[in-house]
Amino acid sequence: MNIATQAAQIGLDWDTRTGAVTVPVYQTATFRHPGLGQSTGYDYSRSGNPTRQALEEGIARLDGGARGFAYASGMAAIANILLLFKSGDHIVVTEDLYGGTCRLFDQILTQYGLAFTYVDTSDTAAVREAIRPETKALFVESLTNPLLKVADIAALSAICRQRGLLCIVDNTFLTPYLLRPLDLGADITVYSGTKYLSGHNDTVSGLAVVKDPTLAERVYFHQNSVGAVLGPQDSWLTIRGMKTLSVRLDRQQENALRIAEWLSGHPKIRKVYYPGLAEHPGHDLLKKQARGFGAMIAFEVESPDQVEPLLMKTDVISFAESLGGVETLITFPQVQTHADIPPEVRTRLGINDVLLRLSVGIEDADDLIADLAQALAGY
Ligand SMILES: *Cc1c(COP(=O)(O)O)cnc(C)c1O
Repeated sequence: MNIATQAAQIGLDWDTRTGAVTVPVYQTATFRHPGLGQSTGYDYSRSGNPTRQALEEGIARLDGGARGFAYASGMAAIANILLLFKSGDHIVVTEDLYGGTCRLFDQILTQYGLAFTYVDTSDTAAVREAIRPETKALFVESLTNPLLKVADIAALSAICRQRGLLCIVDNTFLTPYLLRPLDLGADITVYSGTKYLSGHNDTVSGLAVVKDPTLAERVYFHQNSVGAVLGPQDSWLTIRGMKTLSVRLDRQQENALRIAEWLSGHPKIRKVYYPGLAEHPGHDLLKKQARGFGAMIAFEVESPDQVEPLLMKTDVISFAESLGGVETLITFPQVQTHADIPPEVRTRLGINDVLLRLSVGIEDADDLIADLAQALAGY
């Protein structure tokens, strides 16, 4: 069945007693036992809650994995997956990584004996060269933030299989609607559900999907043991958002392409990064392996003193962190999302003092372009 259909119907048929079309919010911490040594399948909501389970089964279906897991945030999902590793293990990681993930790896997990090597994962050969005898996994963002580099998930998964590594893909920017990493050979996907999946800038959540049932059992043990689970209300909101994933993304991508083309022709814009533009280095690969180019755009203005006025002058577009929601947002990655990346790495990557990032929403594209035009006209 098509993903759009599967997504729209998450939670349908859950409550056969009443026939409720949406899954109820099971706002309960605990469940009555029918008898000694008996269970309804639910005992305590950290271990399992029906609303969360509807979401977990939903994302597992969308990604084609054995089992899905819902967490209190994207970071909680990533931290939980990293519990699969132990002191002495080494992991190869995308270099222009989401700042929060970089902070978790470098400032926390290194204290527990994990080691990380950062490489440009859009360069498959560079990944191969970074693998050491003690390497246990590759952690790759399918589309990176904010420079939108594209990783060849099929080729990287093949290398991982050959070398006995787990291939973990942060697929937040594309979602299963646009890219299904597990179909391409990856082992685990992780998501900030806060972004496109929830899609309304109203919920913080995280998801992970594991392809192999045995590995999924270990992840479940960690999820229940650590307990950073998503609550029933936020599980429900995430499901509600996911039902419209396909229509939102279709519109967001359409808007993003128009805006990227318009920015490319603007005399005050130095550079535009959008994989939907034919000149973007990841364009052909994404065209081959994904169903779209997403709705994130990065662009450079001419000089650093133009950044603040532009952020202050946009009106329809809000100056705010985060991405993937129906409202268009603009950020300044160097001081916001990527402040935790070491400055010399940022400079090498191109996350500089003139780079801005747009998360394109579902508003009318003409209104968004008019807003950018008036903000850029001001200086
Ligand atoms: C936002 C984000 C995260 C972290 O998710 P939270 O829900 O904010 O904890 C991880 N990876 C990517 C690519 C993100 O954009």
